[in-house]
Amino acid sequence: MSDVRNVIIIGSGPAGYTAALYTARASLKPLVFEGSVTAGGALMNTTEVENYPGFQDGIMGPELMDQMRAQAERFGAELIPDDVTGVDLSGPIKTVTDGAGNVHRAKTVIVSTGSQHRKLGLPREDELSGRGVSYCATCDGFFFREQDIAVIGGGDTAMEEATFLSRFAKSVTIVHRRDTLRASKAMQERAFADPKISFAWNSEVAEIHEKDTKLSGLTLRDTETGETRELPVTGLFVAIGHDPRVELFTGVLDFDEEGYVKVDAPSTRTNVPGVFAAGDVVDHTYRQAITAAGTGCSAALDAERYLAALI
Ligand code: FAD
Repeated sequence: MSDVRNVIIIGSGPAGYTAALYTARASLKPLVFEGSVTAGGALMNTTEVENYPGFQDGIMGPELMDQMRAQAERFGAELIPDDVTGVDLSGPIKTVTDGAGNVHRAKTVIVSTGSQHRKLGLPREDELSGRGVSYCATCDGFFFREQDIAVIGGGDTAMEEATFLSRFAKSVTIVHRRDTLRASKAMQERAFADPKISFAWNSEVAEIHEKDTKLSGLTLRDTETGETRELPVTGLFVAIGHDPRVELFTGVLDFDEEGYVKVDAPSTRTNVPGVFAAGDVVDHTYRQAITAAGTGCSAALDAERYLAALI
């Protein structure tokens, strides 16, 4: 049986590595499960990050995450590039099972497993991510100044992304599968009133086109007639929702009405004593690297205080 650790961190995005940095500097010797496929989290899949404070000229996403990882390691965080496949969070000693079936024990667990944006699931979507295809207007809108952009979706997020993007873009076409929107009335009205925004109703993306390794246009298909037409855009923002990575915690942690881990805000405490949650697995409002890092810091401090109170 393994020693009982002070803290195990599940996830290796900005939230997980920041929690690792803080708990390592507090001499808590954190054990971090980074995930077997995407150690470093969502920013490993992007190019330039221009809005993370401290990098005047921007920094490539993978480089930023390598720096965070190295900084946590420097203070003694132990990092394991494996998935957590099972947890038992009840009781004062929690157990976490890794992909090889090893069981690890700890007094506290920080959940920072992030969220997964929904994809269209079309050929070329992945390879053009960061090259015209984006899932975050706040992150990437600035790169699309004076360009023609398509936003996919009909909910509040899609309207918000489209309205935000119209500040930079030459034109924004909202592509929606139906002829009415799911978005709130206020968001709809804002989009309808925007002279740069137009709508492709009853339409879905049939194909994504590429030229010189960049997005060059879309083929849209009419969902009623099946007819197709070309939409020449150099930006595609997919805004069809996110899914928090919470499967491990179903029936164990409380979730909010949208399925994200519920915390006792502004703390990071979950409903289970000794279990804290941070980053995009909690937050469906801001979804930024800096906010994930911020709550990762809060989770580390909450875990530290919890441990101090046990003594
Ligand atoms: P994530 O970064 O998603 O990390 C979660 C980690 O947990 C992953 O490594 C995953 O593998 C791991 N994990 C999940 N389940 C398990 C498990 N069972 N066991 C072990 N590990 C597990 N934000 C900005 O501020 N600026 C930007 O420019 C920007 N650009 C972006 C571009 C793209 C393409 C995307 C997708 C997002 C971008 N974001 C940007 C948003 C930002 O990346 C996220 O808000 C941030 O990464 C969330 O951090 P997180 O730590 O909560 O989760």
